[in-house]
Amino acid sequence: MERVAEGVYQVKKGFRAFVVDGDEGLTLIDTGLPRRAGVLTSGIESIGRSVADIRSIVLTHSHADHAGNAAELKRESGAELYCSPADAPAVGGLEKAPTPPVLDRTPLQILKPLLNLMPNPEPAEVDHTIEAGVFLRLPEDLTATPTPGHTPGHTSFLLDRAGGILFVGDAASQRNGSVTRGWFNRSTPQSDQAVRTLAELDFAIACFGHADPLDGKASDAFQRYAAGL
Ligand SMILES: [Zn+2]
Repeated sequence: MERVAEGVYQVKKGFRAFVVDGDEGLTLIDTGLPRRAGVLTSGIESIGRSVADIRSIVLTHSHADHAGNAAELKRESGAELYCSPADAPAVGGLEKAPTPPVLDRTPLQILKPLLNLMPNPEPAEVDHTIEAGVFLRLPEDLTATPTPGHTPGHTSFLLDRAGGILFVGDAASQRNGSVTRGWFNRSTPQSDQAVRTLAELDFAIACFGHADPLDGKASDAFQRYAAGL
C-alpha cells in the first residue's frame, strides 16, 4: 500500500482502492477488481491491521473494478456495506451494472460486449444506502456527495483529515496535476455538474479511481477544470 496521508493508504493493482485507519477500525473506500481481495488483505496486514479490523466498506459506484471484492471482504470481516440507492441493486446482483457513459456513443457501442468479458463481481448485500449530503459515522467519518454521471448513483466522499481528502471515484481523473475527465466518461450535463459540485468543496488531497492522488490544494485544480467546462 502507498501512504496518501496519515492513516490513509492507496491500494494500487490495476485498480485503486483506499484504506482509512481510524480509532475504531478500518474503512475501505472501494474494493478493486473481482478475485483480488488478497491484494487488499496483504496491504492491510502491512500496517499491522487485519481484515477483521474492517468495520465499513463504502463504494463510490457499482462497477466491477470498484465493487469487485465487497462480498468477500464483507464476509471475512463482518463489515457493513454502504452504497447509493441507485447503484445498490447492481452491487447486490439484482441488476447489471450500468455501462460507463462513453459507451453510449454510437461508434463505441461495439465495445459494450467486451465489458461482459470482465469477471462479474460476487453480489454483495448493501446494508446502508447513502442519501445526498449524509454524514456517515464510520470508524473515520465521511461526508457523501452524490456525483451522478459515471453511473446513476455515483458518489464521492470527503474525509476531514489532512486538510480534507476527497475520494473522487470515477467522477473525474487527473494527469500531470491537472484534473481531467473521468475514466470512460464523456461530457454530459450530469457529469459536468458532478465536477462542479466537487469544485465547491474544500480539500487538500484528491484520490481517484484510475490515477494517482493529487496533493497540495487539490480543490483549486478542480476549480480550474470546472471553470473550463
Ligand atoms: Zn467505473
